[in-house]
Amino acid sequence: MEQPESGLDSNPEAIALAAEQADQGILLLDRELRVRWLNQAAERLCGLRRRHAIGKPLAELVPLPLARHFHPRGRQRRTRIDTVQRYRGDIQLLHADGHRHWVSVSVHGIAGSGLRAIYLSDIQSQRRAEARSQLLTIGFDQVRAAILITDGQGRILHANRGLRQLLGYSDAQLVGQSLLPLVIDSSQGTSSSQQLLAPLLAGQPLRTEVYLRHCSEPGVWCEINATPVFDEQQQPSHLVVVLTDISEARVHAMLLNRLLEAMARDVPTEEVMTLLCNEVERIAPEIIASVVRIDNEGKLRPFAGPSLPPSYTALIDGMPIGPACGCCGTAAWTGKPVVSSNIATDPNWEGIAYQALQHGLAACWSTPVEASDGRILGTFACYYRTAQEPDPRHLRLIDTCVHLCAVALERDLSRQHIHHLAYHDNLTGLPNRSQLVARANLALAAAEHAHHPVAVVSLDIERFKQINQVMGQHAGDNLLREIAQRIQSVLGPADTAGRFVGDEFAMVITDCDAEQARSISQHLIDRLQAPLQVGQTELRLRAGVGISLYPDNASTIQSLLQQANLARIQSKLPGASQPRFYSESMDHAMQQRRALEIRLRQAVSENSLRVHYQPQVNLHDNQVHSVEALARWDHPELGSISPECFIPLAEECGLIGELGMWMLGQACRDLRQWREQGLAVNSVSVNLSPTDFRDPGLTARVRQHLQANALQPAQLTLEVTEAVLLDRHPDTLRTLRNLAQLGVRLSLDDFGTGYSSFNYLRDLPVAEIKLDQSFVANLETDPVALALAEAVCRIGAALNLAIIAEGITEASQVARLRALGFTAAQGFHYTSALQAPALVQWLRQHQAGQSARPV
Ligand code: C2E
Ligand code: CA
Ligand code: CA
Repeated sequence: MEQPESGLDSNPEAIALAAEQADQGILLLDRELRVRWLNQAAERLCGLRRRHAIGKPLAELVPLPLARHFHPRGRQRRTRIDTVQRYRGDIQLLHADGHRHWVSVSVHGIAGSGLRAIYLSDIQSQRRAEARSQLLTIGFDQVRAAILITDGQGRILHANRGLRQLLGYSDAQLVGQSLLPLVIDSSQGTSSSQQLLAPLLAGQPLRTEVYLRHCSEPGVWCEINATPVFDEQQQPSHLVVVLTDISEARVHAMLLNRLLEAMARDVPTEEVMTLLCNEVERIAPEIIASVVRIDNEGKLRPFAGPSLPPSYTALIDGMPIGPACGCCGTAAWTGKPVVSSNIATDPNWEGIAYQALQHGLAACWSTPVEASDGRILGTFACYYRTAQEPDPRHLRLIDTCVHLCAVALERDLSRQHIHHLAYHDNLTGLPNRSQLVARANLALAAAEHAHHPVAVVSLDIERFKQINQVMGQHAGDNLLREIAQRIQSVLGPADTAGRFVGDEFAMVITDCDAEQARSISQHLIDRLQAPLQVGQTELRLRAGVGISLYPDNASTIQSLLQQANLARIQSKLPGASQPRFYSESMDHAMQQRRALEIRLRQAVSENSLRVHYQPQVNLHDNQVHSVEALARWDHPELGSISPECFIPLAEECGLIGELGMWMLGQACRDLRQWREQGLAVNSVSVNLSPTDFRDPGLTARVRQHLQANALQPAQLTLEVTEAVLLDRHPDTLRTLRNLAQLGVRLSLDDFGTGYSSFNYLRDLPVAEIKLDQSFVANLETDPVALALAEAVCRIGAALNLAIIAEGITEASQVARLRALGFTAAQGFHYTSALQAPALVQWLRQHQAGQSARPV
């Protein structure tokens, strides 16, 4: 130590120069705190010029705050420099140019010299860095996001407050630990956290969803957003990891996924809703979740509520909805969410609160579940064991649940609807064929077991098609509903009625023998005959009913239905207005019918049908009014087949149009010949079926036949039954009008047998009415027949229509009909229908007789 000291002592200039060149600012002050010396650095730091400064008191030279510390007679003695032999601290120096900067100050008394040395170090940039780092630290901790910084290997260096709160760990638990064990799972389904984080550790940024380990609770779903920071060697030195809590969104998304997936798997809706409640209770254990639906009568029907006490569920089952009907009832009624933070005091629970309270339920929030069309399907309710206000987290969860409930309940409804559509007739609500068959199979199985008979009944309504056409489809639909009701009214709870197509119904009556089947069917026929108001019209329905019996006739529902159908068809044969039982002979009849159809087709195509004519005689001048062409079919093997048999058959198998045109052509040709032979026949009458008039080409064809045979339109009469007037087909009416316009006479055949209405006569271009033979035959005995005959004659007179009496057999009838005002008569009394040559003969005789015996 001696040597250097002495060396320096010997070189005071070197020491002074060293002090002069020091980085630190140095000021030497005397006892009066006057500046005795300062170096360059002090000049620079304080903004002083040496020549101005030396000799001046420090207080004058150095602006506050430094001066304040070193003022010799400052008020605060302890800050006086002479009391401060040693001082060390940082102060903000106000530079002569006005700017402030930080310096570190230390004061030392120089022993034995009476001088003090002030050393000033520039710490401005250090201070700035510190402030900046402090600011960053504050920011790092204050941001809501959870942030952690790791070293290049993923060891945690810093974890901000957000992260500590998110995962529940303390700083000490985190710092120094690896990031890897925190990650439990990821949305990418990588097998390990190591694998997930490997690219990040290798220097690639990472953004994904991860499930992180929480200190005490189940894990937390976060979005991880990690960026590597590189050192000068371009190696990742740090990782900055930002985590965003997405638990709620994630939980909701998972809830959605889980339920939608269950729905997609066709899990029954009740189970789906139970799953929903369970999930909700798992996410928020303080909730007791439940789903109720609203039935058609506006009553609550608990649907799911796995944690609700069963006795409470039973209590709300069937409760009505309405204002002040608890949470669910009120929510369903108002269509708005209802919050009862405290059931005990909530007016919505007045009178029923004790039931909830008894079961430990203190609060309830219920939200209506709305279908896409606005209907309220049910409610989703959250119950609480303590009174509480809505919690935003729960409200968001409820939102998600209500949406899911709507999807599930609506899907359930549409499934029910589809099921109903698939198995029921939508119009009447009765089972359709497949449902009836399914139920019948059950009934047959039970019957086999119990040795009970079962009756299968087939039913349809006579002329339903026409009624439908006349009254319109809407009325027809109502009629079918009414029929369905009447059918159901005669059946027992174990029986099934179904509608197949149109007016075809079937019934399966359990434990029912032939006698019971007959009486039930008869009762049904009677019930259907009870007057029915359709619009302005009163109808009485006539039903065709066929019955087959299990086990007597068949053992399968398919066969039984077939047999009952067959019996029903037979029930419509003339004279049968009672239920018909199936018999084996019917099968035979059916086969025969098919065979006959083939033969008829052949006869029509081969022109082997013939025409017979029956004259109509004018009751006043005894002239031939017209001759009616009647189809005849003599089969080489089967013999003569009645038109009562083959005409309906031709209608059913679509041959009637061809048959009608053939008859028309034949009749026109024959009339031409008779007239050419000078016979007194004014007109020929041809029967046409109602469907013929739907053919828009009919008028043209009629005109053709007339022209081809040089006949006037008025020489042709077309006989149509009332069914044609009932036909609302647009072409039918047009064709009828066109024909009338052409001048062809239209005759209303079989008047009095159908839905006769004088109203139709006003609108339709009829020239003639033929009162049905049944009335003519009963004129003497039946006052109703007489009244109708009189009315028809009066109408005829008023509307200038010819009135023809059909089927007169007795001479005695002639005078009577004449007196009543009939125009002409036709029947065996004059002659049965004759072949053309025989008719010619008859006409000649008639003409001769007439000239011999004038009327
Ligand atoms: P319809 O038009 O009422 O014909 C009158 C039916 O009464 C004829 O029976 C005729 O032979 C029968 N008849 C005539 N006088 C008497 C009598 O004094 N007493 C009795 N009991 N019956 C008498 P038919 O020829 O068997 O014809 C039955 C039905 O077949 C006809 O009834 C008509 O509806 C239909 N039909 C006959 N030919 C044709 C045709 O060419 N086309 C169409 N569409 N239907 C026809
Ligand atoms: Ca006729
Ligand atoms: Ca007739």
